[in-house]
Amino acid sequence: MKYAYAVDPCPFCAVLSDRIWIAAAHAIALPDVFPVVDRHALVVPRKHLASIYKSGILEQTAIWEPVDEVRRRFLTGFKPDGLNAGTTDSRRALHQVQRDPARCHT
Ligand SMILES: [Zn+2]
Repeated sequence: MKYAYAVDPCPFCAVLSDRIWIAAAHAIALPDVFPVVDRHALVVPRKHLASIYKSGILEQTAIWEPVDEVRRRFLTGFKPDGLNAGTTDSRRALHQVQRDPARCHT
């Protein structure tokens, strides 16, 4: 997988293609390697963003498209009582994710 540019160390630039569940134009979805709960997925923008909110609304919407697909697959495949989706926004928050995987990289 190629991102717009590499950030070192970025765990998502090194993701192997066989780990990717959904490859959309602006983001990918993959299982979390450190899941806090069963069926914990990550949706990661294809390009490095200091903040998702610094991109335009159309790009933000495109980044969220895989979230909808992950939701659909979980609902049809696992039939959970409910789902949670959240965002990790900023490099500092990403570091928190690496220490505390209870958060979701979106
Ligand atoms: Zn990266």
